[in-house]
Amino acid sequence: MAARITYATLTADNEELHTAYEDGVRRARARLGEEVAVAEDPEPGEPVEVRSPADPAVVVCTVRPASPRAVQAAVAAAKQAYPGWAATPWQERIALLRRCADVISDRADELAALMTIEVGKNRLEALGDVEEAAVFFRYYSDLMEAADGYSRPMDSLSDTERTRSVLRPHGVWGVISPFNFPMALAAGPTAAALVAGNTVVVKPSLQGTATAWRLFEVLRDELPAGVVRLVPGGDEQGRALVGSPDVAGLTFTGSYEVGMQVLGAASTPWPRPVIAEMGGKNPAVVTASADLDAAAQGVARSAFGFGGQKCSACSRVYVDRAVHDDFVARLVARAGDVVVGDPLERDTFLGPVVDAAAVDRFREAVAAARERGRVVAGGDVLTGERLPGHYVAPTVVTDLDPSDPLLSTELFLPFVAAVPVDGLEQAVAHANDTVFGLTAGLFSGEGEEIQRFLDTIEAGVVYVNRPAGATTGAWPGIQPFGGWKGSGSSGKAGGGVYYLLQFMREQSQTVVQ
Ligand code: GLU
Repeated sequence: MAARITYATLTADNEELHTAYEDGVRRARARLGEEVAVAEDPEPGEPVEVRSPADPAVVVCTVRPASPRAVQAAVAAAKQAYPGWAATPWQERIALLRRCADVISDRADELAALMTIEVGKNRLEALGDVEEAAVFFRYYSDLMEAADGYSRPMDSLSDTERTRSVLRPHGVWGVISPFNFPMALAAGPTAAALVAGNTVVVKPSLQGTATAWRLFEVLRDELPAGVVRLVPGGDEQGRALVGSPDVAGLTFTGSYEVGMQVLGAASTPWPRPVIAEMGGKNPAVVTASADLDAAAQGVARSAFGFGGQKCSACSRVYVDRAVHDDFVARLVARAGDVVVGDPLERDTFLGPVVDAAAVDRFREAVAAARERGRVVAGGDVLTGERLPGHYVAPTVVTDLDPSDPLLSTELFLPFVAAVPVDGLEQAVAHANDTVFGLTAGLFSGEGEEIQRFLDTIEAGVVYVNRPAGATTGAWPGIQPFGGWKGSGSSGKAGGGVYYLLQFMREQSQTVVQ
């Protein structure tokens, strides 16, 4: 087994990491094509093959979508397991969950390799995704411990009264997770729900099922029966989970449209708590005083990393007119340097986009950009013997009107537009002028500008002068990650100190002695 990965050891020159990953690829390949189904499902849906976006000839797994009865059975099993798990002292719960984190870390190489094959994420980012999943289990366990189980004495008006505030779990928690972080974003809400004492039913994105299933295997093997269930499938299974009256709370990560539906549906039979993470149209701002090289690097990494398929991806840049052309030239050069190819290869930065629909979306966006602006880098769908999957070129667009829909619609593609502006105020006004408010970046050499940006930008996650990623790369315990406005319903960010509180409800206890 390789030395354990940490945030600090996730670097391209860590040879040990590459050796472990390559070994992981061999082990992941040995299990390709497995069937994923709920074991006791009497009537699963028709088999659906999940194919690798890097090479659609590769069948990653065959999913038997859970029947409505199987979804209800999973919820019922979680409901049955709930009283026992909730009553388990938090110290014991977190001991078990920390053990889950260690097993995930121990299997990181194989899990990451499988993720690369299933969703096309490059090796360093896939290893990061798996390690982030493990860190979520550790981080929320640490918070529980630091808060001493969230039970504390309150003031009392008389000597005969004993009063406490106790945070208690809700019951069965539904987790609907996306393809783009198939481990971390299934694990984060699941870990928080479990630490708090809820039991969990997970419905992962169809593309991402094999990876999420491996997470489920760990939890199934390490935790008491029924505490975590996984129901494979698509929209229908997600709707069944949201519609179940026995699901007491939900975490949804996905599109704005579906998130808004989940929020509506969860308002019956009573207002059930929903934590919805719903995407972004994340801006970066480059002022005249910025280090333009750092800005181009940060924007390129955030716009093209995992093909722009992170909720946090940068997709628009507002650049001071005085430096616009210079910045664009540097960004175009960086786009040209991006290594596109098989994501299993060591040097690949940009793998495929997730499916054929994403390629169609790319074609449409490029056609619109050619009509209403200028495509100054990329713009092509990439094909050829070495690129049998869904590959597109990193793309930079200019000359769009600031009100263009390409600047307000989330594309989830390696596609970024630069817009000239007259000063910071105008940049922030444009940046704030969408329904979203997830991440935002600034490149500026002036303290006063930086403070003005921090005070006026409407975004839950903000970075200043960060070449490693203008808008991406949040890590639990370091950058709490959550959106404002249409990007998120909760206002309490994942991987931050307040997140866990949402998975519990307060009970005020007064006992007269
Ligand atoms: N945490 C990731 C980042 O900061 C993004 C997660 C997401 O796409 O939802 O880049």
